[in-house]
Amino acid sequence: MSEHGYCPNCNADLDGGSIWEHFYKLTGSEEKADKSAEAYGATKEKGQWGRAVGIYDRDLDRTVAWFCPDCHHKWGRV
Ligand SMILES: [Zn+2]
Repeated sequence: MSEHGYCPNCNADLDGGSIWEHFYKLTGSEEKADKSAEAYGATKEKGQWGRAVGIYDRDLDRTVAWFCPDCHHKWGRV
């Protein structure tokens, strides 16, 4: 199960790894990892970095499309 879904073109898994694990590796402390992950809405059990690159439209002030880092395919906002 992928939290961020899959690329509609090449089917790459767009999950980029656990946010909590990332901070745990950085700090070596579960308590600090909990706090840092919380800022991203993540916990030890869930919350993954997304690999798709958001394309932001300044005029609309929102992400309007995504870009796959593997095949460079671009698709509309889900
Ligand atoms: Zn792709």
